[in-house]
Formats: sequence, C-alpha cells, structure tokens
Amino acid sequence: MASKVEKTDDEWRAVLSREQFRVLRQKGTEPAGSGAYDKLYDDGVYSCGACDAPLYKSTTKFNSGCGWPAFFDAIPGAVTRHVDSSWGMQRTEIVCTACGGHLGHVFKGEKYDTPTDERHCVNSISLTFRDSDGVAKPQVPRGGIVGWIRSALGAVL
Ligand SMILES: [Zn+2]
Repeated sequence: MASKVEKTDDEWRAVLSREQFRVLRQKGTEPAGSGAYDKLYDDGVYSCGACDAPLYKSTTKFNSGCGWPAFFDAIPGAVTRHVDSSWGMQRTEIVCTACGGHLGHVFKGEKYDTPTDERHCVNSISLTFRDSDGVAKPQVPRGGIVGWIRSALGAVL
C-alpha cells in the first residue's frame, strides 16, 4: 500500500508547474494532443507527476488516437476511482491513490482491442515517465520559451 502524501495547495504550488497544478490539483484537462507522452511507446514506468508513486507500466499503454496517453490497466492499487458528475456526464475519475492527484478518467466498453476493454485516459502532465534505465523523460523543457528553443536546438544538434 502506497503511503499517503498530503500537502496544502501552497505546498503543491511550490513543487508543481502552473499547468501541473491546474490539472493535478484542480482537475483540469490538458489540450488533446499536447502532452509529451501521448505518442511515447518506450519501455518503462509512468509515475505520478506530483508524488512520484508508480502508476502505469508501458506494457499497458496503447494507441487510442484520442490525444491523451491511454492505458488499459493500472499498477494494482495505484489508482483510485471516483464517480464524477461534472459537466452533466457520469464519468469515472481516476486519481493517484497516494496523493489524490487528478489523472484523468476511465472509459469502459469502447471495444478497443485490449485485455480489459477499459481506457485510462490520463493527462500527460499528470505523469513522469522513466525508461528501463530509470532515466526520466522531461515532461516540459524547463525555462519557458527559451527552454523550448534550447531543447529544440538540442534535438537537432
Ligand atoms: Zn500522486
């Protein structure tokens, strides 16, 4: 059982980016197709972007085409489900069991060719990916627009 992580909003703001805070703590949604991990299929583990608890293995990730990372199953006990009745819909919200951070929603019975017939639709920004060597793939290049340009140049050079 993962240990509980409890922080105040101010404490979360201090360790999360503005966009991470909006999604993880205020149940926001990143724009479709914007996430760093949407089309990533490397071997590794996806951990909670807030508290680093391991949540999903890359072996359960599949291409849903929906614009967000999709998994057909979570690491047992890592993810907790809540009924979400916002926006006039009945949906199943998923949160990190350890810290309560918002991950996304689970959809069932969509007939994707997966073992569970479930789709965990998870915001990229709610996750941290580490490859099998334990090296983290950066979610967002640090340093704002300059960081973006630097990392783009770095990829070319
Ligand atoms: Zn967490």
